[in-house]
Amino acid sequence: MNDADQPPPAPDSDSERRLAEVIAGHFVGARVTEADGARIVELGEGLPVIECRIDTQQDHPPYGVFVFLSIRGGALGEAGALVTASGYGPSPEHALTLAGCNWACAFGPVLLTGIGRPELINTEDPDVELFETTLDGRRHLFAVGHLDRWSDSAQAAGAERQRLGGTSALTRAVLTSGTIPSTRSDRVIALGCFLACGRATSTEVKLGTADWPAAAEVLKRLAPPPDESAGLHMLREWAVLAPLEPAPELTREGLQRTLDLLRACGADPDSEAGWCGARHHGMRLAEPGPANAALPADMNRFLTRIAARGAGPGYGLDPRPIDGRWWHLADAGCGAEWALDLADGAVWLDSRACDDGFARVAPDFTAWYEAWLDNAIHGGGPFARWDHRADAAYQGLARAVHENGADALPRTMTRVRIHSSEGEPLGPCHACERTYARFGVAPEAFTTAPSPGTAPS
Ligand SMILES: [Zn+2]
Repeated sequence: MNDADQPPPAPDSDSERRLAEVIAGHFVGARVTEADGARIVELGEGLPVIECRIDTQQDHPPYGVFVFLSIRGGALGEAGALVTASGYGPSPEHALTLAGCNWACAFGPVLLTGIGRPELINTEDPDVELFETTLDGRRHLFAVGHLDRWSDSAQAAGAERQRLGGTSALTRAVLTSGTIPSTRSDRVIALGCFLACGRATSTEVKLGTADWPAAAEVLKRLAPPPDESAGLHMLREWAVLAPLEPAPELTREGLQRTLDLLRACGADPDSEAGWCGARHHGMRLAEPGPANAALPADMNRFLTRIAARGAGPGYGLDPRPIDGRWWHLADAGCGAEWALDLADGAVWLDSRACDDGFARVAPDFTAWYEAWLDNAIHGGGPFARWDHRADAAYQGLARAVHENGADALPRTMTRVRIHSSEGEPLGPCHACERTYARFGVAPEAFTTAPSPGTAPS
């Protein structure tokens, strides 16, 4: 089961290549390459790439295609953004070309403007609006575009937009609602807003790669009551937010507000709030505590002004001395932990019990904690990175798939006990738990995980 985490092979690589070529045509100097069986649009040196995947393709009339685009790297960072696009037409080729062209015409210029490279726009009359906004006391520039569809007429959909406040109404409503936190780094972040209204109402907000339910509620309140006699108006906006100044120092109130927004993502097993570690600390900060003369100044500032324990990487911040040189910071699950080296203040991920790894992951406490927070906001998946396929939890799942088949797992894997080699009970790491979730095993199966909601005391 070594490929349990791999996506299924592409349905039709020629179609995906055509899709990638259509998209590449909207960016000056872009080229199409291939990596791990996927078609990639490379925008250029130091710029993001766009991985193009066809999700579904209807091969009989009316021809339709639904695609996933993963945009990552460059100013967007490793997690990047996940977007969807669709196209319909008189032939499969037509539908595919429209899906790529519609997305790239509307949002390619937004991407390039948002990352500060508008001169690479290769679209006639690009329609990008630029605004300034302040999130958590930090000024941002945001570039936004829109792409609407409708079941009745362009006029009706246009009138709906005007009622809502114009071409960037969804994005502005979300950004002024207090439901989008500032990130900590200088990277840009994508914000996708979708509102279908008229005959029925549905909403979706994506921040980075993941759904952001706190802001979807804002769009729901914006929508008029459903009217069965009306058409369906599908309004989509996509924005790229770029910080204009460094993030101000973390405060206890500001951090807890961001953690509360993250907690709303808890239904998603990929999200930082959606696994045993986060359920243990509840995304809640404990009270501040006393300083310790052995610790670096930035860590003491955090412990005395923000929180002495609670919400943080893995199973939560739980500082205690290991020996004269090392301080334990947090458990990562599956027997791994983060530790601070008192010699220079650097943070290391000790996964020797897992894949035999021991790696320096941050220059200091603040960088480590803020990298965790940033990864969570961007929807970057498990924060701790090691080869989790070496973990006992993963190996147990692989054995069960081999013996009973994947379909039986939700029925047969109802009690998962993980122990260290010394017999200590352990909770799973995020990557292992996520793999179990993909096979339909509920997190309650992990009987040795620390209990939920008990960390801050
Ligand atoms: Zn694990």
